[in-house]
Amino acid sequence: MKKQKVECTVKSCAYWMYVNRCTAAEINISNKDLNIAPKNNSETECKSFMEKKGLSNILNSVENKNWFGFAEELLGAEERLNPNISCTVETCKYWGKGNICNSELIKMTSNNNIPLKVCCETYKNNRIYL
Ligand code: SF4
Ligand code: SF4
Repeated sequence: MKKQKVECTVKSCAYWMYVNRCTAAEINISNKDLNIAPKNNSETECKSFMEKKGLSNILNSVENKNWFGFAEELLGAEERLNPNISCTVETCKYWGKGNICNSELIKMTSNNNIPLKVCCETYKNNRIYL
């Protein structure tokens, strides 16, 4: 599969970079409520979100930064800032065994304007609920 691309519009995250890039080396997506299997995208969540606020949060984000991609991006080599994705949302049609995502483009966005919550807009339900 082609390298996956992550687009994120959540500027309040310490990993967010201009033109909606994510500078994290890895992101973890899962159910917003761990006991509820998502039926729509607002029930998913980016657990790697870290609020861009205060020195400690910024310093904590340093460990998971994709520094090589970040440097290459600054030098003009595009498409380097795409984090590895680990996703546990099994009700999504793009989900695969080993917690992989099979979508080439993953769009992350704020969750219904709920502060500090980020969901996967690309989520598509793969089940029929009665
Ligand atoms: S919210 Fe998630 S996808 Fe968006 S920039 Fe932060 S870590 Fe990356
Ligand atoms: S598109 Fe589906 S499988 Fe991929 S990250 Fe989003 S919720 Fe997970």
